[in-house]
Amino acid sequence: MTVETASAAAYIVAALLFILALAGLSHHETAKAGKTFGIGGMAVALAATIALAVHRDISGVGLALMIGAMAVGAAIGLWRARVVEMTGMPELIALLHSFVGLAAVLVGWNGYLHVESTLGGTVSAEAKVLEAQELLGIHSGEVFIGVFIGAVTFTGSIVAFLKLSARIKSSPLMLPGKNYLNLGALAAFAVLTTWFVINPALWLLIAVTIVALALGWHLVASIGGGDMPVVVSMLNSYSGWAAAASGFLLENDLLIITGALVGSSGAYLSSVMCKAMNRSFISVIAGGFGIEAGPADDKDYGEHHEITAEGVAELLGSADSVIITPGYGMAVAQAQYGVAELTRKLRDRDVDVRFGIHPVAGRLPGHMNVLLAEAKVPYDIVLEMDEINDDFDKTAVVLVIGANDTVNPAAAEDPGSPIAGMPVLQVWNAEKVVVFKRSMASGYAGVQNPLFYRENSSMLFGDAKDRVEDILRVL
Ligand code: NDP
Repeated sequence: MTVETASAAAYIVAALLFILALAGLSHHETAKAGKTFGIGGMAVALAATIALAVHRDISGVGLALMIGAMAVGAAIGLWRARVVEMTGMPELIALLHSFVGLAAVLVGWNGYLHVESTLGGTVSAEAKVLEAQELLGIHSGEVFIGVFIGAVTFTGSIVAFLKLSARIKSSPLMLPGKNYLNLGALAAFAVLTTWFVINPALWLLIAVTIVALALGWHLVASIGGGDMPVVVSMLNSYSGWAAAASGFLLENDLLIITGALVGSSGAYLSSVMCKAMNRSFISVIAGGFGIEAGPADDKDYGEHHEITAEGVAELLGSADSVIITPGYGMAVAQAQYGVAELTRKLRDRDVDVRFGIHPVAGRLPGHMNVLLAEAKVPYDIVLEMDEINDDFDKTAVVLVIGANDTVNPAAAEDPGSPIAGMPVLQVWNAEKVVVFKRSMASGYAGVQNPLFYRENSSMLFGDAKDRVEDILRVL
């Protein structure tokens, strides 16, 4: 068996391992096994790629560079994975997507400089061969599409990173005629691609790179509020397609397969999330297409009521049913252990305690489930929004721990709200609601929350972890 055939076989094994990884990741119980398959697949893929490079007479410097790059990448990856906080995970993922985008742009440019470019005044040998086979146009198309998707992914992911890490505001950028800007960029891409395939000039590649970088920035900057979770999974999908495009250029089947797996699973996740949030998939992937700026919400909702930890302990002492709806603030405060302890205490007193989890609570899909599992809250009392939403009116006390957008009645009741139509946990139907947060500030979507001013709501101000511990002490 030659090295070429062996590596082709290894690529198939790696591709199968990646498919098993995706299958494993779709369930709680099998997620760890899924990760192991993924790591195995990547190890096989790397080994096969190095073996192939050595077989194809890579120079000593080339090999050293490749191994050096892998070592640096692995060291940075290990370091980041070790130090990242659970709350910082989404922005790290967004940043990693930007690397995939940048890599696709570089691969595309490299492909151009090797083949089509006549910068040195000569036509490359590769270009002559492809020309003779009438394949040069296809190569140019691959270069162009790869650079375009890569550049959109690159800047889009950087904006997502900046928004998720609160380095820039999460509210949508509303340029006048923003939909036409996006459509114009797509039309320019189509025209430039045709032109480039006919005449692969350098300036065309520069032009498409600039258009795509601007489009990626604008697409994600235009999406705001509660739609960011879909954007993150959409960028995940784009990064997959960018990798697949690089796979075509590098003639690497595994990269094509892996890119397609990431691309299609990301697109599927985006569509599932859009359904859960009652959003139009097309509108979200087209940078909030069709959504125009609404009037600023400076409505006066009246006075809010405050409560103390002792007051909450008293309420809980006389309650027979409690639902806890955690959100991003629980993750920030790392309050899950205290919350788990509170749950145990209440259950020991025969109080019916359950959790209501919104599909986009926190900053990444499944964020709350992971935290509660970490704190050993039993799975069977952790319910999805749809499973628990009809039970709030039969509940004595709801504890909203660091959640805001996901419990905002405006989504259900105010058609003019930026989050209108997004299904939310209907906590306000309970007899009494206690909201744990540090101030009256709005949540991620930047939308005011009328829940805080309702007659049956009380605010318990302060860090969620400290307040939960205060309640535990009184109990
Ligand atoms: P929100 O982001 O709406 O609100 C969180 C609240 O927690 C804030 O209002 C904040 O108020 C409070 N908080 C922060 N720190 C603390 C603390 N230490 N102690 C107590 N409270 C604290 O959270 P939700 O989970 O309800 O909603 C998630 C939002 O994030 C949605 O808009 C969703 O679309 C978006 N999103 C979700 C993603 C996902 O995949 N799940 C990805 C990207 C975005 P204060 O500052 O006053 O304390």
